[in-house]
Amino acid sequence: MSKEIANKTKEETYYKCTHCGDEIFWNTNKKLIECKCKAIYIDGCEDYVRGI
Ligand SMILES: [Zn+2]
Repeated sequence: MSKEIANKTKEETYYKCTHCGDEIFWNTNKKLIECKCKAIYIDGCEDYVRGI
């Protein structure tokens, strides 16, 4: 059960809100994180990323 998944790009992925300019990191540890103006949100962990 060994994992060998390269996640180079994932480590640097941020979602930027075009309304308020807030940036949210893709991995929120399964918490729903909203930007300041609440136009976007991210809910992510190592298995999945949801949002926007
Ligand atoms: Zn915003």
